[in-house]
Amino acid sequence: MPVQTVGDALRHAARLHPDRIALIEGSADRSGRTRIGYGDLLARSERIARGLAARYAKGTHVAIWAPNSVEWVVVQMAAALAGTPLVMLSPNLRAPEVAFILRNSNSRAIFTVERYRDNAMADIARGLRDEIDALADVFLIDELATLDGAAALPDVAPGDNALVQYTSGTTGTPKGVLMTHGGIVTIGHDGAVPMGLPEGSVWLLVLPLASVGGSVFAMMGALTTLSTLIVMREFDAPLMARIIAEEQVTFFNAVTTVHFRLLEHPGTNPESFASVRAITCGGATVPTSLIERIERQYGAACLTTYGMTETSGTVVMSTPDDSFERKSMSAGRTIPGVSVEIRHIETGAPLPPDEIGEICVRSPGAMSGYYGLPEATAAAIDERGWLRTGDLGRLDADGYLSITGRLKEMIKRGGHNVYPREVEDLLVQHPAVAEAAVFGIDDDELGEEIAVAIRLRDGAAAEGPALRDWLFPQIAPYKIPRAWHFLDALPTNANGKVQKFELRKRFDPKTAAAA
Ligand code: ATP
Ligand code: MG
Repeated sequence: MPVQTVGDALRHAARLHPDRIALIEGSADRSGRTRIGYGDLLARSERIARGLAARYAKGTHVAIWAPNSVEWVVVQMAAALAGTPLVMLSPNLRAPEVAFILRNSNSRAIFTVERYRDNAMADIARGLRDEIDALADVFLIDELATLDGAAALPDVAPGDNALVQYTSGTTGTPKGVLMTHGGIVTIGHDGAVPMGLPEGSVWLLVLPLASVGGSVFAMMGALTTLSTLIVMREFDAPLMARIIAEEQVTFFNAVTTVHFRLLEHPGTNPESFASVRAITCGGATVPTSLIERIERQYGAACLTTYGMTETSGTVVMSTPDDSFERKSMSAGRTIPGVSVEIRHIETGAPLPPDEIGEICVRSPGAMSGYYGLPEATAAAIDERGWLRTGDLGRLDADGYLSITGRLKEMIKRGGHNVYPREVEDLLVQHPAVAEAAVFGIDDDELGEEIAVAIRLRDGAAAEGPALRDWLFPQIAPYKIPRAWHFLDALPTNANGKVQKFELRKRFDPKTAAAA
C-alpha cells in the first residue's frame, strides 16, 4: 500500500531511517550547517503540529512567507500533520500582494521572519490594520518552539488539501491552486523515480520552497526516496558550487535561468561537480544549446522536465536513457499515472501525433481546484478530469512531448503564428547572447509585431542589426524580431522565470494594458 499523505511519508522515513539526515541548512559556513535527521524532523514537526491543532480546526488555512530554511520545511511538515493547508507565499512578494493572498485565502495564521514582519507587515498593517488584526496570527519562524502543543492530531486523507500556491498572476488576478496530500506525495515520488538516483541521495534545493519545484518536486521527492535535502536560502552561484563539492551533492533541480547563471560561474566544471549524477531543467523553454552546455560543464545528465502548479509539478520528464537528440527535441515522456493529449486550439478535437495544439493533462497530481473559484476550476478541468494547460505542444509517435510555448504568448503576426521558443532557441546559440526573451507588441498593420529582450554574455557586444543578419539565413523572415532591447537583466519572477508581461509593460504599454 503506497504512502498517500505527507504525514505517512514522514512517519515512514522516520521509522526506517531515524538517524539519516533529512535536511541540511545550505549556509556558507560548513561546520555551522544545521543538520536534522528524519527522526528529529518528525518529532519537531509533531510538536508544532499539536500546537497548530490546539489553535486551528482541520482545514484552516495557514500561510508562510519566509526565505528558504530548515524551519520552513518543519512548518510544511507540521501543517501537513495538523491538516491545515499551507498557503505558500514567495519571498519576493511585496506587502500589498501578501495582503491580497492572506485575505483571498482566508489564512488565519502567517509564519514569517522578523525582517519581513517589521518592514512589510508594518506596511500592510498601516493600510489594512483592522483587517489584518482580524485576519491572521503572526508566528516567527525562528521561534517555532513557542507553538509547541499537545493536542491530538486529526486524521488526514489523501484527498485533503496540503498546499496552496497562488499563480504568479502574470495572466490575470492570482488564483490559489489547491494541491492534495495524495497528489503531492504521488507526483513527488513518481517524479523522482525516473531519474534513477540511488536511495539516500543528496539533493540540493536552490529554488524557493514556496513553489512546486521546491515543496513538491524537491521536498516530496527527497522525502519519498529517503534522501537528504540541502536547503539553500536563495540562489547564489558561488555558494552553490561550493556546497556541491563540500556535501557531495548527487542531484539538483533548477529552472533555465538558474542554469544560465550557474554556467557563467568559474567554479562550474566536471571536477567540482564530480558527485553530481543528474540534474533537471524545466519550468520554461529549455534551449538545446543549454542542455549541451550543462552536460559538458557539469559532467552530468541533464533531464528535461515540464509541469505546472496546477498538476502539482511534473507531467513529463526525460530519463537518463534518453538520447541527447530526444532531449533536445522534447521535454520527455509522461511519468507513471499521468496522461497527455494534444487538442486543436479552436475546436478542442484531439490531434494526431506531430501536430501542434493545446496540451491537456490528466494526472493524480491535478489540483482539487482554484480556491473559492468554482467557475475558473470548471473552465480549467473538464468532466473527465482533463486539465487545459494553456500551453502549446506536440506529441511524437513515441509519446515524447515538445513544448512550443504558451497559448497566450504565441505571436500572431499578420497571417503567421510565431512561437517565441523557436526564435529564442536560435538566439542563445549566438556567442554573444546569454538570454533572450521574444514577445509580441502591438502593431497597427500586422496586429502584432515581434520584439526581443536580450541579456548579453559578460563582456560581449552585439547590436540588433548584426543579430538580425545572423538570424536571416536560419529562419523565415516573418519570425525575425523587429524591435531589439538589450538589458542588464531580464525581469524574472520568484522562481527565476522571465516575465514577458513585464517586458510588454516596459516596451509596449498598449499590449500590456489589453492583456
Ligand atoms: P502563472 O500561471 O501564474 O502565470 P506559471 O505558469 O509560470 O505562472 P508555474 O505553474 O510555476 O507558473 O509554471 C508552469 C508553466 O511553465 C507551464 O504551464 C509552462 O508554460 C512553463 N513550462 C514549464 N516547463 C516548461 C518546459 N520544459 N518548456 C517550456 N515551458 C515550460
Ligand atoms: Mg500557469
